[in-house]
Amino acid sequence: VEAVPVPTPRPVLQLVGVRKTFGAFSAVERIDLDIREGEFLTIVGPSGSGKTTLLRMLAGMEAPSEGNITLRGELINDLPANKRPTCLVFQSLALFPHKTVGQNIEFPLKVKGVPPAQRKERALELLRMVRLPEAYYGKNVMKCSGGERQRVALARAFAYDPDVLFFDEPLSALDYKLKKVLEKELKDLHKESGKTFIYITHSLEEAMVMSDRIGVMQAGRLVQVGTPEEIYTRPANRFVSEFVGEVNVVGVSREGMRWTADDSGQEIRLALPRQMADAARAAVVIRPEFMRFVDAASTADNVLRGRIYNEYSLGSRIQYQVRVGERTVLLELSRAQAWRGAPDADVLVGWDAADAIVVEA
Ligand code: ATP
Repeated sequence: VEAVPVPTPRPVLQLVGVRKTFGAFSAVERIDLDIREGEFLTIVGPSGSGKTTLLRMLAGMEAPSEGNITLRGELINDLPANKRPTCLVFQSLALFPHKTVGQNIEFPLKVKGVPPAQRKERALELLRMVRLPEAYYGKNVMKCSGGERQRVALARAFAYDPDVLFFDEPLSALDYKLKKVLEKELKDLHKESGKTFIYITHSLEEAMVMSDRIGVMQAGRLVQVGTPEEIYTRPANRFVSEFVGEVNVVGVSREGMRWTADDSGQEIRLALPRQMADAARAAVVIRPEFMRFVDAASTADNVLRGRIYNEYSLGSRIQYQVRVGERTVLLELSRAQAWRGAPDADVLVGWDAADAIVVEA
């Protein structure tokens, strides 16, 4: 039986060599990216990494300095925001303050010339969609809470019936609990609507919960694009691995055939990936949950000697801080794997080569 090739769907938005400079400063470096129809794509990165600039180019508020942006194959570099089938929802919302919830939501429909009765019907539908009571239709938008206004802004964005919705940190001003609720709702809304969502945030946690794919930006470059799982388990470089959560980074150097750990001078038997066979220096990145205590009789690879100096309960799991030379190594273990010996014991800690990422130092 011959395998039938699965056609890759045409990207809704495509970026080829897109770059943005402000004078001599390069805010976004040549980016190539296909955004898939109907996906939830989140761009994360620290402050100043270029997320907003990238979004502004996608939304038509800024033209790229170089490269091409196409929408379903059509070049849109210079197409203004109001001519694009896209809509931006941002933190500051830009709702009309002296109007009612209903008037705010109906605005795009009014502009399109939809008759009043139909406008109201659609607005009520949208209120239900964003989980606001229909009674809010006549309420002044300034009398709504922050979370409710966020929902009104979302309902208005949907009233434009865009193909692509952009979100610029829409939840960052809200308290933690409300944020968690809205994250889930936004994800549900994405699923129900089938629209393409492009979301930017500096919170990786937010990105992990909601996204189909995450793009990580560092100093204007898109350094990795992948599923949350890929970003977490196979970070492309040290920056991504550290951005994604707590990690242990063990620097190692080679003298002849022997590897030593930089912070402790300990010799370490190291399994290196083949493409790094000739490297003289490397950094081994291991997440705390992949580290474990190793039996003293073990002759396994990837083992370091240290001493336990702290232990924290994380509820169902326990975190250990182990001193290895100048460095602290973190282990996060289930209670079943907990250390049973003295609290300040000398220990061996190790990891499986398959659980570590080795990057060039
Ligand atoms: P944040 O999370 O803080 O919003 P960001 O990742 O969205 O940051 P951008 O706002 O895209 O980052 O900014 C990227 C870089 O480009 C910053 O160094 C910023 O100062 C610079 N920049 C952005 N817009 C302009 C502009 N109009 N003129 C000059 N420099 C700009």
